[in-house]
Amino acid sequence: MTDTVEIDRLHKRYGSRIALHELGLHVRPGTVFGLIGPNGAGKTTTLRTLVDVIRPSSGTVRVLGEDPRHGGAALRRRIGYVPGELHLEGRSSGHRMLSFYAQVSGTRDAATTLRTGRDLADRLGVDLSRPVRTLSKGNKQKVGLIQAFMHRPELLILDEPTSGLDPLVQREFLQMVREARDAGQTVLLSSHVLSEIQQTADEVAVLANGRVVADGDVASLRLGSIRRVRVEISTTDAAATRAGFDRVPGLSGIDATDADGILQLSGTIDGAIDPFIKALAPFEVRDLTVEEPDLEESVLRLYGDSAASAASDRSRGERGTGAAEPDAGSAVETRAEARVETRAEARVETRAERRTRRSMRDGEGRR
Ligand code: ATP
Repeated sequence: MTDTVEIDRLHKRYGSRIALHELGLHVRPGTVFGLIGPNGAGKTTTLRTLVDVIRPSSGTVRVLGEDPRHGGAALRRRIGYVPGELHLEGRSSGHRMLSFYAQVSGTRDAATTLRTGRDLADRLGVDLSRPVRTLSKGNKQKVGLIQAFMHRPELLILDEPTSGLDPLVQREFLQMVREARDAGQTVLLSSHVLSEIQQTADEVAVLANGRVVADGDVASLRLGSIRRVRVEISTTDAAATRAGFDRVPGLSGIDATDADGILQLSGTIDGAIDPFIKALAPFEVRDLTVEEPDLEESVLRLYGDSAASAASDRSRGERGTGAAEPDAGSAVETRAEARVETRAEARVETRAERRTRRSMRDGEGRR
């Protein structure tokens, strides 16, 4: 079966800045695919290319079997899209705006689509009678989500869809994504919040400076295995206690201060948290925080070499003036090409393994 989204060797330049380097991504039908990466990684650029808001410098893109450049309105009707920066400034009410979208989107009749839109508005808690420009940022975002989902498109392309939403609404949104997948729709969403990708995505690609530095299923990427911990414990011998934590497997970057018999210690755990918890057991624990680090930190720790070189390329690129810098531009290109080759070799096995896994799973499905 053809993949719903096929991106091969996608390259995008803005002047001398390279936003996407020979990017490759395939999204299978009926799956949720998460695109994650720190700010400036190239998520928005990738997604905009899929809806023909911007055009590639080179490479190929196919969406639902068609080239977005030539798919026109017929292709767009099959897609639900939420842009990264949603501007809803019109005088129209939410209801009127959705009525218009219901006329032009999807293959269902407008009345059915609008009914779904109203149901979604109830679920997300947004008042459709108000002019959209008077809505808060979060409520505008809800209207954006409703227009993307209500015509039950074959493909949903959602750029940072939960930005501005409060936690309860985010949960409802994640449920909507799961329901879409259960109904056979395909969802491609970008985020720099790891937890929402972990909760929904079947497959993930990690982007850093326009390159895929890792891809696979969420568990295999181990992004969630990095946690930042902070603890406050009572101890009569701060130096010995501190030294004991040096031996805890997976704990690194330890920072410790002590005063009045209280040791405050923080660090990063890569892998199982159990050894750290066991190391705390002999002490009175006065406070304990375990949190997800920001995505940039996780990506750098896990995919250090490729992501760090990507990040330094990015700062070189950001420092560039955008004016003609032929030598600098071509040097970046040459380094990029070298890395693309190396990574392509490194990923041969992963892709082969994935193919095996899929064929085993498909085989099981048939049995
Ligand atoms: P964020 O999470 O901050 O939205 P992102 O992963 O979506 O980031 P993009 O917006 O795709 O990243 O940007 C990728 C790179 O392309 C960045 O270096 C950015 O500065 C650059 N870029 C994006 N749009 C333009 C533009 N119109 N002109 C010049 N450079 C651009």
